[in-house]
Amino acid sequence: MSVPVSQMWTVASYVMKNKLAGRKRYPLVLMLEPLFRCNLACAGCGKIQYPAHILKKNMTLEEAFRAVDECGAPMVTIPGGEPLMHPQIKELVEGLVARRKYIYLCTNALLLREKIDQFKPSKYLTFSVHMDGEREHHDFSVCREGGYDIALQGVREAIERGFRVTTNTTLFDGGCRQRAPILRRNDGRRRGGHDALPRLFL
Ligand code: SF4
Repeated sequence: MSVPVSQMWTVASYVMKNKLAGRKRYPLVLMLEPLFRCNLACAGCGKIQYPAHILKKNMTLEEAFRAVDECGAPMVTIPGGEPLMHPQIKELVEGLVARRKYIYLCTNALLLREKIDQFKPSKYLTFSVHMDGEREHHDFSVCREGGYDIALQGVREAIERGFRVTTNTTLFDGGCRQRAPILRRNDGRRRGGHDALPRLFL
């Protein structure tokens, strides 16, 4: 799914404004991590290694909106942990949409079907789903048999309801060769990140 024209325009205007103001450095994207706990336990994930008292914490809406307003970046990614486990994720997304921020809500999609009624399709909201390859490789990567199928159901449901959905993929040293052809650019170089695997489920 291509980037909405309004998003390209917003980002271009923001960059121009900063250049005209003579700023050499300015944030384009805020990475907002509202919690570190997760419903998966992927091997090597640094987030879920935090001690229990940190994993229990949720960033408050006040803290989140203060950071967003202070940063001023036009795009906000919400990774985690698993952001759909945040008790106020609905209000967080609504507050960001009201601020006209382009949101990439990064999720492993295990809860996407269950929680999707909390969200409304919007040009400001994209679900960025963690997909680490095709079924066998994804399940191996996230250490959860059946995880791929649940994520795929969530992706299909979101697309059917009119949400914008992209994927994000983590590549590891010595990772599976079968992922490589999926992740090549037209120029032959490997890539990761958004829009990397749409052909898996569309
Ligand atoms: S889904 Fe993401 S946050 Fe959760 S365990 Fe896996 S890598 Fe960590």
